[in-house]
Amino acid sequence: MPSTSYRTCPLCEATCGLEITVDDGRVARIRGDREDVFSKGFICPKGSTLGELHEDPDRLSQPQIRRGGTWITATWDEAFAEIERRLTPIRTAHGANSVGIYLGNPNVHGMAGTLYVRPLVKALGTRNVFSASTVDQMPKHVSSGLMFGHPLTIPVPDIDRTDYLLMMGANPKASNGSLATAPDWPGRMKAIRERGGRIVIVDPRRTESADLADEHLFIRPGTDAAWLAAIVTEILRSGTAQPGRLAAHTRGLDELAGLLADFDAGSVAAMTGIAAETTRRIAAELAAAPTAVVYGRLGTHAAAFGTLASWLTDVANLITGNLDRTGGAMFAHAATETPRRKPFRMGRWTSRVRHHPEALGELPVAVLAEEILTPGDDRIRALITVAGNPARSTPDSGGLATALESLDFMVSIDPYRNETTRHADVILPPPSHLERSHYDLAFWQLSVRTVANYSPATLPITDGRPDEWQILLRLTAIAAGLGADADLAMLDEIGMAGQVGRDAADAESTISGRDPGEIMQMLSSRRGPERILDYLLRTGPYGDAFGAREGLNLSALEAAPHGIDLGPLEPRLPGLLSTADGRIDATPAAIVSDLPRLVARLGERADGMLLIGRRHVRSNNSWMHNVASLMKGRDRSALLVHSTDAARIGLVDGGRALVTSSAGVVEATVAVTDEMMPGVASLPHGWGHDDPQAALAVAARHPGTNLNALVDAGAIDVPSGNAVLNGIPVAITPVTAG
Ligand code: SF4
Repeated sequence: MPSTSYRTCPLCEATCGLEITVDDGRVARIRGDREDVFSKGFICPKGSTLGELHEDPDRLSQPQIRRGGTWITATWDEAFAEIERRLTPIRTAHGANSVGIYLGNPNVHGMAGTLYVRPLVKALGTRNVFSASTVDQMPKHVSSGLMFGHPLTIPVPDIDRTDYLLMMGANPKASNGSLATAPDWPGRMKAIRERGGRIVIVDPRRTESADLADEHLFIRPGTDAAWLAAIVTEILRSGTAQPGRLAAHTRGLDELAGLLADFDAGSVAAMTGIAAETTRRIAAELAAAPTAVVYGRLGTHAAAFGTLASWLTDVANLITGNLDRTGGAMFAHAATETPRRKPFRMGRWTSRVRHHPEALGELPVAVLAEEILTPGDDRIRALITVAGNPARSTPDSGGLATALESLDFMVSIDPYRNETTRHADVILPPPSHLERSHYDLAFWQLSVRTVANYSPATLPITDGRPDEWQILLRLTAIAAGLGADADLAMLDEIGMAGQVGRDAADAESTISGRDPGEIMQMLSSRRGPERILDYLLRTGPYGDAFGAREGLNLSALEAAPHGIDLGPLEPRLPGLLSTADGRIDATPAAIVSDLPRLVARLGERADGMLLIGRRHVRSNNSWMHNVASLMKGRDRSALLVHSTDAARIGLVDGGRALVTSSAGVVEATVAVTDEMMPGVASLPHGWGHDDPQAALAVAARHPGTNLNALVDAGAIDVPSGNAVLNGIPVAITPVTAG
């Protein structure tokens, strides 16, 4: 008999509800869950492919060990014994920092990655921690941490109630939204206009999302920070700034005008390509709208001045009175939120070679290759990758692939032998998404509405394979010196009991003063991520505090398969602030010290072509390129160029071109389109599936061209260390015509 279950899609930040029909152990149908409290039936093409992903013949089900260039299928015991045998001597001989770890973006899309990676990192004790955050959103973490006190205190656009949305470097119609969790961005954008609101999109490409806007403005890549500085200056000079109630909780407001004095509508016009009168008009519209929000995403963050742009986005919201206001930029209130008390700190250590400071306990992934290849103490000799493909998705991806091959040992937790894991000595495959339970711990902390929704595993894990959290815990045991055969149940028990004990002793915890043994007893029917989730829900802001009040627990969510709606966002400042003085820092020293670098670029207008990335709704980084149904149609890694550039350079639609940067050269198919700003070209990232050692049959038939091969690892946003993926100077030359 077919059965139907409901689960939250884990593939992107939108957290859509899915209705999954399983017949005879196989997925028969996936469609949007019309009763899901948040997504109400919305689904994108990726969401319906979870069954295809599960059944992908290239997906590994057993550990693989590489010996002399040959891959051998191993038992789990053999694989972990091999890891202990080879990893432990490296750590013993060369110290904790000789082992690096790279965490791919899928980690934050699953409970195991969110809950069990941190203990692994702690057990490793290494400073060489890298993740996809530094090719993505690290500028937002840094500016939020410095302004509001915590890297996750990130304002999100209240798109369901705003009157005016100014969106920069974001294309939610393709990405489904980012750092602003909301299923059906297109529908929510249409609703803004239907209720009389206005949407302005600023982007070097007239994106799919621009079709939903009232106005689109081209901007030269990498100049968003300068334009936002001009917007802020114009509002301040016009006397229309109204920070309102937050003025009393903010320091540095009076310094803004002086710090940004070099930037105004006129001074940034040549650099940005936006006429001065247009900038003044947008500034006036922003200040005059009943409610408004500036929202910037990857195009503004993964750029040369990403942290400045992120900071100025929030400054614009602050001075117009739209920060922490209904219809403005608000703060999510996740059901699993934990207290944010300690002020954000960064720069506690630096990378060995380039001396770049850490942020959020990690170093820029742009320095990973040099940390492997440069001789000396603390060189990375062994690497663990978890759910990542940095050999395709990080800067100078070709250089990193070379570095990976030079390692003494590498272990990867990944379902595929891809362009990265093919360099590993051991691959440990986790269960498929459908074999895992899910609760979106990460992205409901960035949600435009408060919801809670738990998804049990759709399919059972067969053949005695371990769950992902058990794989991570066993690796943690090895890193902690407890050995590959350590008692994982006891380790998990110790971790949970430690957390309960600390919170029971914490005067501000909802279980303060309670008997830890009693709390552990109340959790005793669950293990692993479920037990931690139940604990987080019950001690969270909506939780039942273990019987002390009415509220949420995991059992309540299990009884609500379409989720529980906890309502729209409400103002949270100043209570949420965790800066040292409890105020918003409008002018963080670590950010404003980067302003002279931007001032030096004023008036500059690059002569050559600049390259930017882009997203497509049927792709997600390099994740989904082995799913046949998503790979149909035109080459989605084509080089987009404007017709005037094509004519000047001698490119034709469908022809081939060489694209050369300071980091490398790639060949791409040309697509001539006037959706590009003249002088700007676009390639997506995550492609380049041309490595014969990888085992991705579908992706290999559609290898595509990889933007990251052109990204210079030496070019980073200074405060955050984020890679510069947008605004890359390139030379383009024709190879063939047609
Ligand atoms: S928009 Fe994102 S969450 Fe929704 S179905 Fe598509 S991939 Fe899944």
